[in-house]
Amino acid sequence: MRLCLLYILSITSICLAQPNPSYWQQQADYTMEVKVDVEKHQYQGKEEIKYTNNSPDTLKKVFFHLYFNAFQPGSEMDIRSLSIRDADKRVGDRISKLKPNEIGYLEIDNLRLNGKKLNFEVKGTIAEVALEEFILPNQQVNFQLDFKGQIPKQIRRSGRNNSEGVAYSMTQWFPKIAGYDERGWHANPYIGREFFSPFGNYDVKIDIDPSYIVGGTGVLQPFGSVQGSTTNENKKTWHFKGENIHDFAWAADPDFIHDTVAFGDNQQLHFYYQNNPKIIDNWKKLQPVAVALMNYYETHIGPYPYPQYSIIQGGDGGMEYAMCTLITGERKFESLVGVTAHEMAHAWFQHILATDEANHEWMDEGFTTYISTLAENEVSKTFNTYPLEGSYNGYRQLVASGAEQPQTTHADRYKYNYAYGVSAYSKGAIFLSQLGEIIGQEALSKTLKQYYNQWKFKHPKPNDFIRVAEKVSGVELDWYLQDWTTTTNTIDYAVDSVTQEKKSIKISLVRKGLMPAPLTVTITYADKSTESYLIPLRIMRGSRPLQPKEKLLPDWAWAYPTYSFEIPTKKRKIKEVKLNASGKIADIDIKNDVFEVK
Ligand SMILES: [Zn+2]
Repeated sequence: MRLCLLYILSITSICLAQPNPSYWQQQADYTMEVKVDVEKHQYQGKEEIKYTNNSPDTLKKVFFHLYFNAFQPGSEMDIRSLSIRDADKRVGDRISKLKPNEIGYLEIDNLRLNGKKLNFEVKGTIAEVALEEFILPNQQVNFQLDFKGQIPKQIRRSGRNNSEGVAYSMTQWFPKIAGYDERGWHANPYIGREFFSPFGNYDVKIDIDPSYIVGGTGVLQPFGSVQGSTTNENKKTWHFKGENIHDFAWAADPDFIHDTVAFGDNQQLHFYYQNNPKIIDNWKKLQPVAVALMNYYETHIGPYPYPQYSIIQGGDGGMEYAMCTLITGERKFESLVGVTAHEMAHAWFQHILATDEANHEWMDEGFTTYISTLAENEVSKTFNTYPLEGSYNGYRQLVASGAEQPQTTHADRYKYNYAYGVSAYSKGAIFLSQLGEIIGQEALSKTLKQYYNQWKFKHPKPNDFIRVAEKVSGVELDWYLQDWTTTTNTIDYAVDSVTQEKKSIKISLVRKGLMPAPLTVTITYADKSTESYLIPLRIMRGSRPLQPKEKLLPDWAWAYPTYSFEIPTKKRKIKEVKLNASGKIADIDIKNDVFEVK
């Protein structure tokens, strides 16, 4: 069995270098100049988007996101928050109470395509543009537009004067072309969460009152400088460039302290935090931990490919952006490390591996939760043997609540925010942890690295990930992707009976849940010695490598609800039979996994 697997590994590693030959993705390169009026909390700018249609399709319309329009009474985000039973407390009814000088807006004007004026209609957070001259396959075009906006009172992710007094958290602040892929346009209204955009290069100049320090996406020009250049006594220009990214965020505050720490290959970590005596110690202590986290992700996924990463105090919790994160900073040290670990991991599972997080939220939040939980466990030297236990407990509670929806549900379309959260983060983290039990830990580690190599700077979909895992492990995993992510089927196996006779012990198992899984059976004898057996799942057409001393049993075909096997009786008396001793299979009823022999 093991030899066979090794053979499969050696032939598949050759095929793995080739990405899907029919894959294509759009490109959008942005050049922006923006002037900020810090008295009125308003800004205006010019934007040019060099858009490359790499699709085989002729585009007859395009869409732009105008996210700040969500922060207005009566917006879809406002009404959704007022009508969902478990609204995010940060939003609640706060949008409905915004006064005209507190709302957010983003307006575009003078929109042109290759110099020709375009008509458009704004509906909420989306500008719909019907093109008179279509964009042909492989054509590159230039959009130009003027925009003006008002920075809303901080409600969610973006805004002015957050709860810790950071002046501006500028995320999803500019007119942004919507994502287009083989499923068409993704002009999702901004209702609550998750983003998806094409990769491109960004060149952004921000003019702001010279008392402000600006940190954000990209690298300050001239390359690697740490201060913007003063253009006159009232303005300072901060010029950032970022390559191969799909977003641009920044924050500004007059009281920011700015520290830099080197890591990796001549790269830098930047820290922007307020000159507040209550937090300075924690933010200094965070710096070597952040380097250790960076090292962990580079080792376990792949190299961090950008010149810098910035951890910026701002926003209202923690949120990932291109080459940076905005996090709230007045936290206990453990919490500061936890949020940094999580958001930094998103540099891989959201930014470099840029899944459409509105449709496949478990691939960014779940994978991030998985890797950041392990990273945090290692860098904080907690060495918990089962760090993801909380994710498993959360998932089991969600199943018991009856509120679970399939992970294929659009991130905005869950009935409860609670169900979204557990499904995306916990059930998404279990997807990987459980896969490690199904294909083996070594194959999982290799899968993550191959996934990075094959899909970095692209928009992988669920099937792209599982195909990498199949090729690395040599087992079939279509059943796993399908049941776990597109249904609410659950895994529930039970030990039905154990009979010890003179010559043999007969163990009968039963499948109670609809979702199958391979099983481990651990037998403990009265003298505390143990034996382990692996029961592969027939539709895997293979199994993970055996652990030392583990024995292989015949496979179990899903349609049979029961399975029995006999092993020779030893002189020892059998004490207990237990399924899934590693705890990594998310069997929803762990009580019936154990059979104590009286
Ligand atoms: Zn996250």
